[in-house]
Amino acid sequence: MDSPSRSSVIIVGAGVSGISAAKVLAENGVEDVVILEASDRIGGRIWKEEFGGASVELGAGWIVGVGGRESNPVWELVNKAGLRTIFSDYSQARYNIYDRSGNIYPSGLAAESYKRAVDSAMERFRNGEAGSLLKANPLPSIAKTPIELAIDFMLHDFEMPEGEPISTFLDYGEKEFMVADERGYAYLLYKMAEEFLSTSDGKIVDSRLKLNKVVREIQHSRNGVRVTTEDGCVYEANHLTLSVSIGVLQSDLISFRPSLPRWKTEAIEKVDITVYTKIFLKFPYKFWPCGPGKEFFIYAHERRGYYTFWQHMENAVPGSNILMVTLTNGESKRVEDQSDEETLKEAMSVLRDMFGPDIPNATDILVPRWWNNRLQRGSYTNYPIISNCEVVRNIKAPVGRIFFTGEHTSERFSGYVHGAYLAGIDTGTALLQEMRKLETDGKGQSQQFLPLLTLTGSLSLTQAETGSLHKHKCDIPTQLHLSGKLGIPGARL
Ligand SMILES: Cc1cc2nc3c(=O)[nH]c(=O)nc-3n(C[C@H](O)[C@H](O)[C@H](O)COP(=O)(O)OP(=O)(O)OC[C@H]3O[C@@H](n4cnc5c(N)ncnc54)[C@H](O)[C@@H]3O)c2cc1C
Repeated sequence: MDSPSRSSVIIVGAGVSGISAAKVLAENGVEDVVILEASDRIGGRIWKEEFGGASVELGAGWIVGVGGRESNPVWELVNKAGLRTIFSDYSQARYNIYDRSGNIYPSGLAAESYKRAVDSAMERFRNGEAGSLLKANPLPSIAKTPIELAIDFMLHDFEMPEGEPISTFLDYGEKEFMVADERGYAYLLYKMAEEFLSTSDGKIVDSRLKLNKVVREIQHSRNGVRVTTEDGCVYEANHLTLSVSIGVLQSDLISFRPSLPRWKTEAIEKVDITVYTKIFLKFPYKFWPCGPGKEFFIYAHERRGYYTFWQHMENAVPGSNILMVTLTNGESKRVEDQSDEETLKEAMSVLRDMFGPDIPNATDILVPRWWNNRLQRGSYTNYPIISNCEVVRNIKAPVGRIFFTGEHTSERFSGYVHGAYLAGIDTGTALLQEMRKLETDGKGQSQQFLPLLTLTGSLSLTQAETGSLHKHKCDIPTQLHLSGKLGIPGARL
């Protein structure tokens, strides 16, 4: 057992935010970092698998937000790494909407329905919902007919730029490019990691990256952190960066001693998480239309989101004979709970509605289970947590020596790879500032804030304390953060 050991920083999670935070630390001379990753790979929600003779992305597949007034940093990394990408032209999808009898809706009707849905979405957005809209409480949609429901699903569950005027589209642009490279999207993380971790033959061999380490307990005090993993190892550090998803924070996978303060747990509970599932189907041959404008096609059903959005993989992997269908939320959870055979049967029945009874059966199916994966508990934070400044700030704010990162801590770009990447940089930078401040403040510190962060006491504010801070709710974490700065660097728990 390799415990206990003491380092400057423990990073929990080797997804894009954990790796980008570690890189910032390494670039600034903080090298005694330990990265504890629960799974057997880096990447987290960027995850490539071999399926039907091709590489498919189970998690993030697109660089969303390209061609705008600012450059998307992930797009820059993708180009630097030389990853192959293809432009996704969703605009044609509305002209490939099938009804249950296999007829394509006339283009005029489809365009008109699409325009009405966009106008209605913009109207809902303008009506002040930007100030309070958490997806947990969406406004009722006006969509009723199968085609309206299909378009509604496309606009919102796919976050089309016309329907969701969020920072990603406004700042970085409305184009989306899909990674179509057999090295996978996660190759980006490898390229980032190789700048500060030792590698050999395309693998990370650095002992600071510890895979298969499921963190179960984080003990923290004003002096440092102690982490216990499922296999009984103990790690100690001066600080900790926690990059697990909001779904994991909402679950009981990790316990905190002392418990996290109420302002933090309440904020964590308020965020809604989307489940987004890409199901892959392998066929002996193609039976769907290919060629320009045919990559995406839609199935209109009276149940919203029922095997609605389809994509053929011929542009990404020519000759692969693979189709992908995307499910979200309730439908995702439903198929996660049933056997893959059931799901295959349902998907085949939908395809036979669209393309007739004579199409061949799929020979293989891949159904990711993001909701039931205890290391994720969902796919990404729901748009737009930015709408509530208190929630997003409280989610991001450190608790003593624990610094939070991950896509869910990004005010502008929550939910996206670039959000996670920038969040890691932000958190790494904030932690560095903290460490430097501790070094300089170490000798002459005032004791007045110490009681908030004693070793055994709860970090929750009392009612009287909360009352006195009430006027500045968004500042609460900042004040706790300041008190955290008064810890003694290097002291042991
Ligand atoms: C199906 C799907 C499709 C998506 N599509 C896109 C897309 O096209 N474009 C886009 O920009 N974004 C997309 N996203 C979102 C994007 O993948 C995420 O926003 C981003 O990858 C999150 O990175 P992260 O570092 O915040 O979290 P993660 O990648 O989740 O990293 C957290 C890490 O913590 C680890 N961990 C969890 N619990 C523990 C524990 N107890 N102990 C130790 N380690 C632990 C996890 O294994 C994981 O590796 C998609 C996500 C999904 C799931």
